[in-house]
Amino acid sequence: MKVLKFGGSSLANLACFNQVASIIDKESQLDQVAVVVSAPQGVTNELVELVDNIGEVKVCDELFESISRKLKALVEDALSSQPKLAKEKLQTAFEELIVKLGQLIQGARLLEHCPESTRAQILSTGERFSVLLLNALLDANAIEVTTLEPKLFLITDTTGSEPVADLEASKVKFQSNYPQLGQVALLPGFIGCNSKGETTTLGRNGSDYSAAVLSVCVDAYSCEIWTDVDGVYNADPRLVKHAQLIDSMSYHEAMELSYFGAKVLHPKTIAPLSLNQIPCWIKNTHAPEKAGTLISNETSEKEAIKAISNLSDVAMINVSGPGMKGMVGMASRVFSAISWADISVILISQSSAEYCISFCVPGNEADAALECLNKAFELELKSDLLEPISVKRNLAIVTLVGDHMQQQKGTAAKFFKALAQVRVNIIAIAQDSSERSISAVIRDERTDDAVKVCHQNLFLKKPTIDAIVVGCGNVGGELIQQIKRQQAGLFEKDIVLNLVGIANSKRILLDKNGVDLDNWQNDLARSEDQLTLEKLNQFVSEAHLSTPVIIDCTSNESIAMQYADYLANGFHIVTANKKANTADLTYYQKLRDIAQAKQRRFLYETNVGAGLPVIDNLQGLLRAGDSLIQFEGILSGSLSYIFGEIHKGLSLSEATLKARELGYTEPNPAEDLSGLDVARKVLVIARETGLKLELSDIELESVVPEELAQITDADEFVRRLPEYDQTFQSKIEKAQQNKHHLRYIASIENGRCKVSIQSVDASHPLYAVADGENALALSTEYYQPVPFVIRGYGAGAAVTAAGLFGDLLRTLAWDHAQ
Ligand code: ADP
Ligand code: ASP
Ligand code: MG
Repeated sequence: MKVLKFGGSSLANLACFNQVASIIDKESQLDQVAVVVSAPQGVTNELVELVDNIGEVKVCDELFESISRKLKALVEDALSSQPKLAKEKLQTAFEELIVKLGQLIQGARLLEHCPESTRAQILSTGERFSVLLLNALLDANAIEVTTLEPKLFLITDTTGSEPVADLEASKVKFQSNYPQLGQVALLPGFIGCNSKGETTTLGRNGSDYSAAVLSVCVDAYSCEIWTDVDGVYNADPRLVKHAQLIDSMSYHEAMELSYFGAKVLHPKTIAPLSLNQIPCWIKNTHAPEKAGTLISNETSEKEAIKAISNLSDVAMINVSGPGMKGMVGMASRVFSAISWADISVILISQSSAEYCISFCVPGNEADAALECLNKAFELELKSDLLEPISVKRNLAIVTLVGDHMQQQKGTAAKFFKALAQVRVNIIAIAQDSSERSISAVIRDERTDDAVKVCHQNLFLKKPTIDAIVVGCGNVGGELIQQIKRQQAGLFEKDIVLNLVGIANSKRILLDKNGVDLDNWQNDLARSEDQLTLEKLNQFVSEAHLSTPVIIDCTSNESIAMQYADYLANGFHIVTANKKANTADLTYYQKLRDIAQAKQRRFLYETNVGAGLPVIDNLQGLLRAGDSLIQFEGILSGSLSYIFGEIHKGLSLSEATLKARELGYTEPNPAEDLSGLDVARKVLVIARETGLKLELSDIELESVVPEELAQITDADEFVRRLPEYDQTFQSKIEKAQQNKHHLRYIASIENGRCKVSIQSVDASHPLYAVADGENALALSTEYYQPVPFVIRGYGAGAAVTAAGLFGDLLRTLAWDHAQ
């Protein structure tokens, strides 16, 4: 014989009832079946509320009305759609059930108190209803049903709100009361009785447990739990979109998982099945053809970590004090007190029992636990041998489960690293000695983030980047296009790149599922939000993003000055904006300290040479013990182009105008010709090598005189630039007489930085660099006398965006370094 259990989610409406009836019909043609049913979805919740408000006549009456209405609607639906139903029999049985519920409520009201057994009877109304409706539906299909009465065999102990079934006594009683069963037997789940014959409940979600006990009583060869998911997943599928289905797992794994919160099974279900070696299947009522999950003695060895579970609404009690040192039997006294109060301890943290004992209990039992401990240790508390017993509330336990974790090293490290990645603070840690589970106690509000990131890092192994592009001009716009083109290819390589935000100076467009990249301009124009730290924090926390990255494509100073706050709030920063790295040294150092402390990336490869790998190479050399002796470079693409054109015969103003028309300069070319941008770049390099310089320390020779360089209006600058052509021409001619080229060169030597126009001969590494190219010659301890040269296009939207893209992908290195 097989036992089938259908949960409330499988009995949510008449269509579900019909589906259940059809599964029973099919299964009973193959073998005898014993069926356990829960209440229709949501009914027990209302019954619990009713019982909790039994003294509140109005609330209680409203709930009674609502429950009766809901159940009646199901009956009426059934009667109107199934002409073969035994109408009168069903209606009478239903009315009796509702009358009985009314009487039980009335009785409790008269007593002004609801005894445990009355409470259990009221709570079981939903299950009794399911039996009566399903019985009628099966009857109409000519399936003969024996209804089983839990009070006649399912014996539980009396202590506690979640009693334990007496398997042996139950089996004896069952076999004497039901020596013979027909093809289909039907049992209301969730309830039993104590040795005095009073009704008891098996605790919330307890019908699974009823099914396990019934499986033992009927010597079932299999127990099937039918629910609304395809089986057990490696994380709660409500929290984790990409949770994966588990084919098979061991009893131990299932037990740990359900004990630590996986709602798919009541925690006590597995013990009776495991004791009697009855395999258990978790199956989907709405997709019966799917295989489901098998829980048995076997587990696949494929994955060491089987699943992650989460248990919410937990409180942690802390008993500590100097008097505990050397006091024999302290732990035993603490836990005896707790057990007398009938409170179950979920987890004990491994701290030094000599000084402090911390343990977790269900949140709703924290006050009772505190009260009983205060009583038990009254004397010690009075004499200050113990510190006041403290309670931390609103906690959750996140647990990794897997039989084979014991053979694998580094599991805990990966677990805690993942939690650190989303900045979840671990309050306590516990590992069972068989290493089947590792638990971390965290704040409840961080559960979603914790479970998601652990699933991402430990199971999915498909790292995700959530990018927010700030600034969508030339470079930002190009980056958005590149992201759009690359997304699919990256996904194939197991990287999920989501562009979740785009901002300009006025607005921000945010979408946790990814901005629509075909229509972002319109969507952004319609947005009413603005980029602020608060806005982004709220978005990231609501969307539970684990690795948000801000990509700054602006040259805006005020955004650069917010990097410290963004890093402190858990964002990675990728930037083309040089303003942060060239701000004062205090801020420069602060950014690095925060990034280190918060384990966040601050990446700025594009600050120098656009997409050319300058910073990365330099850092690599320095890390390998090299040191810079001298640096010389052409760091401005626009000036490289302008100087190249001048040597082809154009005047300074003609060359500048041409560069401007081709989009190689800033809108106002004065910004290029002032040399300030180059000064910033050389400062970035100098600081990278450890020089403690400020921007004002750079010796800067502007290409044009100060009075021209300071013109802020682009048109005026372009109009007045020819004034300087003559003077500049004479410099060129002088250089040409010596067969030299004029180059705008940034240099670092003897701890000093200089930016100036230089006349170089053909042997100089920068002599041939023109046409918008950048070139950097680094003479180092390792690279001398021939310097290490990096050369290529160092400006332009495409290469800069590609450089930003590279940095964006490097944010993964920190999060996923295993
Ligand atoms: P029923 O009404 O059938 O008893 P429950 O709601 O009690 O159903 O349990 C099934 C639910 O358990 C699923 O809908 C799912 O949301 C939740 N659940 C939590 N953790 C897991 C998990 N690891 N695997 C599958 N389901 C899970
Ligand atoms: N109906 C009960 C509850 O909701 C028992 C169950 O569904 O398993 O807790
Ligand atoms: Mg359930």
